[in-house]
Amino acid sequence: HRECNHANMTGPNLNQGHPCFSTSGHGKTGRIHLAVAPECNISCNYCVRKFDCANESRPGVTSKVINSDEAIETVLKAKSSAIGSQLTVVGIAGPGEPLANQETFESMRKVKENFPDMTLCLSTNGLLLPEKLAEMLEIGVSHVTVTINTLDEQVGAKIYSHVHWEGKKMIGPDAARVLINNQLLGLEQASKAGMTLKVNTVVIPGVNEHLLYSLALEVKKRGAHIHNLLPLIPQGKLAHNMAPPKELIKNYRSILGSILPQMMHCQQCRADAIGLV
Ligand code: SF4
Ligand code: SF4
Repeated sequence: HRECNHANMTGPNLNQGHPCFSTSGHGKTGRIHLAVAPECNISCNYCVRKFDCANESRPGVTSKVINSDEAIETVLKAKSSAIGSQLTVVGIAGPGEPLANQETFESMRKVKENFPDMTLCLSTNGLLLPEKLAEMLEIGVSHVTVTINTLDEQVGAKIYSHVHWEGKKMIGPDAARVLINNQLLGLEQASKAGMTLKVNTVVIPGVNEHLLYSLALEVKKRGAHIHNLLPLIPQGKLAHNMAPPKELIKNYRSILGSILPQMMHCQQCRADAIGLV
């Protein structure tokens, strides 16, 4: 989201020099995305796996997946560029699920060792958040984005075609239930640990729209600081769905803005994006 405008954000958690969580960072600070995480542990029907994760990024635009050594080189190079001093955040947002890839943790550790002042950020589908939270905290990850599309397992069954959990491939409402439980538990635990938390929700017309209000109330209760509604990009198994009109997203943001601050013009940035936001 190079052009994202995070308007009207206040509060201590939204003002920590992270361009994606704070109005104050706008145009002055930026982030370096490291595309080190190709694998995923669930299957979202709007995802085309060769493309980028809808957690944070736009389809098909990672130039390549890199390893943790290349990740450090990427940070070094970006930090020595003209805008290097303004790049304050290192984020891992795909192209798959960051927490399902060991390379994510290795890269974050190396970044922290070599660039201790950088803010560490991750996006996740939330399935492994409770399990990986302690390690994330130990490494020093402070900002997390969890993509939560629904709290209803029947609706979830229409959004997720499977979930890999404890060595099994689960499908249907049972799969969605495991995912939703872990998302909410992870959010709550991460909030209690003091992390800054964003929830992304992909708005899928006719599928999850009717439950957005109760979703926002619940994620706020669990500790989310900001909500980001992403319009569905019709692709994969949802290629025949409609993308929500801009006006509709605007309306939802204004309604849900009474619950949580809304991220306004997120551009669903690529998994290897580098630059000011
Ligand atoms: Fe911003 Fe998302 Fe990247 Fe974090 S992962 S730096 S929130 S764009
Ligand atoms: Fe794709 Fe991300 Fe969903 Fe995994 S979590 S299936 S990478 S959109």
